[in-house]
Amino acid sequence: MASKIPHPVNIKAPHGATVMHIEWSDGHKSVYPHDILRGYCPCADCQGHSGEIKFRQGGNTEIRDIATVGNYAITITWGDRHNTGIYNFEYLRMLCQCPICKPPESPAVPSPDHHEK
Ligand SMILES: [Zn+2]
Ligand SMILES: [Zn+2]
Repeated sequence: MASKIPHPVNIKAPHGATVMHIEWSDGHKSVYPHDILRGYCPCADCQGHSGEIKFRQGGNTEIRDIATVGNYAITITWGDRHNTGIYNFEYLRMLCQCPICKPPESPAVPSPDHHEK
């Protein structure tokens, strides 16, 4: 029995885009703003050795290239050639910013706004 972690079946990161989209084998559709992906780059340079994952602001957020590593991860080459982060599928899935995984803090319920004249 292979791992039950879903794998990406389709990765979309068109040139000039600021958001990457991944479609998973279980049908989930993920959304990743580039600054999130870069800020959570899992490499030791970005994350240090504390073992705690933290968001690091800054860094180039242009995606030059995406490569798969074995059948468990992808690497991203950024505009500044930083490419040492290995995003395994489980980690990637955790970073998903879609409305299902990361519901907006305040639901967009239109508030009644009656202006009587
Ligand atoms: Zn890094
Ligand atoms: Zn999601």
